[in-house]
Amino acid sequence: MQSDHTSDYTLVQAARIFDGTGSAPESGKAVLLHGGHVAAIGSESELRAPDGSSVTVKDYGEATILPGLVDGHTHMMAPGDGTPGDVTGAEQDDILLMRALQNARTFLHAGVTTARENGAKNKVGFSLKDGINKGLTEGPEMVISGRPITITGGHFWYCGSEADGIDGVRAEVRKLVKEGADFIKIMATGGSTWSSNRLLPSYTLEEMTVIVDEAHRFGRLTAAHCASMQGIQNALDAGVDMIIHCVFEDETGMYEFNESLAEQLAAANAWVNPTLHVVQAGIDHTERIGYERGWLTEDEQASIDATKRSLETRNESVGKLVKMGVRMIAGSDSPWGAYPPGEFVKEMIALTKAGLSNTEALVSGLSHAAESIAMGESAGMLATNRPGDLLVVGGNPIDDLNALWDIKDVYKSGVRVARPV
Ligand SMILES: [Zn+2]
Repeated sequence: MQSDHTSDYTLVQAARIFDGTGSAPESGKAVLLHGGHVAAIGSESELRAPDGSSVTVKDYGEATILPGLVDGHTHMMAPGDGTPGDVTGAEQDDILLMRALQNARTFLHAGVTTARENGAKNKVGFSLKDGINKGLTEGPEMVISGRPITITGGHFWYCGSEADGIDGVRAEVRKLVKEGADFIKIMATGGSTWSSNRLLPSYTLEEMTVIVDEAHRFGRLTAAHCASMQGIQNALDAGVDMIIHCVFEDETGMYEFNESLAEQLAAANAWVNPTLHVVQAGIDHTERIGYERGWLTEDEQASIDATKRSLETRNESVGKLVKMGVRMIAGSDSPWGAYPPGEFVKEMIALTKAGLSNTEALVSGLSHAAESIAMGESAGMLATNRPGDLLVVGGNPIDDLNALWDIKDVYKSGVRVARPV
């Protein structure tokens, strides 16, 4: 190892290390950070910084060292307090950017050191990433779509990338790539946006295929919002890399676990980001309104009942898909809807309710999430020469994921993040 007098070493040790791959946690090991990276991982008794270098030793005792968390699905411009997307989408860009900065900091302080931003308005997503990279604000390493590509009046039209027809969608993909999009987010069905219908597919298969081909031609991955089955089918037929929400409902809203579609999902080896907790967060939000007011309107009660049924069927379908070998990743969708920032752990816990073990849920928010967003070489796994992004939590998250709430420290690029206490 070369000596470097201009920067220090930090030796991080704790009762155990979980490396993010799914291997059992190891005890008696420590992580040596230097120059923004993991310089070495080795046994506590042997790991040493080079002679003559200055070393800060951080011993966290009964705690676990993990890689920084990887949230595969965020919307940093949203408040996460139940405000409808159409209302957020009507706000001024500068306000949205200010909120995004605040949320990005909250994510980082909660241990998320990499986040994939699934769509913001106009330049907000691009500026957020740029600002973090320039050190103007703190936040996770951002992988961004910039704006989701959507049909005229489709889900998230207010973000500014409505595009229709073969030529229109091809041009929009090129425009997004030119502006700096790391991946292309496609709205394959409608969603909560008022002018859209979540049960109906939006793009034709022909349009979807052009979007995916064009994105792949530029080396960009694709991810499609699919709130009903025909959207999933179109996305798979077009070769989309990640299916988001993956709701097994037909165009009338009837749940049906379509075995053949599930088999195609498994065969395609597509990643699925089921976004389970954002559904629960919506239920909790409406129930809280009822509790504070003392009563619920008929519409609110009907919405709670329908959403609870939908969550049950989503849990069931995710459980079945996991058994069929479909790869799940944790992406919170926060702070969309009523899912506040800083609570990514809730999505991992939600995945355990659908059938993942604690270890699998952790991996879905670490190495698998990183791999699914083309960050597998730098995030989600602890190994030598990777960026020094660490999360240290009290206790053992393999025994109880709630240990992830007990954050001792977060390290970003080898530097301990100062958090408010
Ligand atoms: Zn989303």
